Amino acid sequence: MSHDNCLFCKIAAGEIPSTKVHEDDDFVAFKDIHPAADTHVLVIPRKHVETLSNCTEGDAPLLGKMMILVARLAEQLGCAYTGGDTGFRTVINTGPGGGQEVYHLHAHILAGPRPWKRMG
Ligand code: ADP
Repeated sequence: MSHDNCLFCKIAAGEIPSTKVHEDDDFVAFKDIHPAADTHVLVIPRKHVETLSNCTEGDAPLLGKMMILVARLAEQLGCAYTGGDTGFRTVINTGPGGGQEVYHLHAHILAGPRPWKRMG
C-alpha cells in the first residue's frame, strides 16, 4: 500500500513530520507547507494512488468518502459554505499538465480572501 520514496505515504505513516488536522483508517489531512491561501489543507488517502487519472470504478467508494471528508473538514476548519459569501475551493491537480507535483492523489482545500487568485 505504501510506496517507497513517496512523500505523502511517508507523511501518512508519520515518517515525515506534518501538521495533521485529521486522520482515520483511510485518510490523512494536513496543512500545506507552502500555503497558497489563509486556509490550505491537503487531504490524502492512505492508499497510494498516483493521480485522479489512475482511478477506476473500484476507487469510487474511496473518492466518494474523500469528498465527504473534504466537506466535513471544511466545517472543522471554519470555511464551509453556510450561506452568504462563505465557502471554500477544492482542487485536485492531475499530471504535469494539471500542475501536479506530488504523485500521490490529494485534494487541496483552500479558503480565505480570493484563494483562486493566489493558486494558479
Ligand atoms: P502544486 O505544487 O502545483 O500545488 P500539487 O497539486 O502536487 O502541486 O501539490 C503538492 C502540494 O504539496 C503543494 O501545495 C506543496 O506545497 C505541498 N507540499 C509539498 N511538500 C509538503 C510537505 N512536506 N508537507 C506539506 N505539504 C507539502
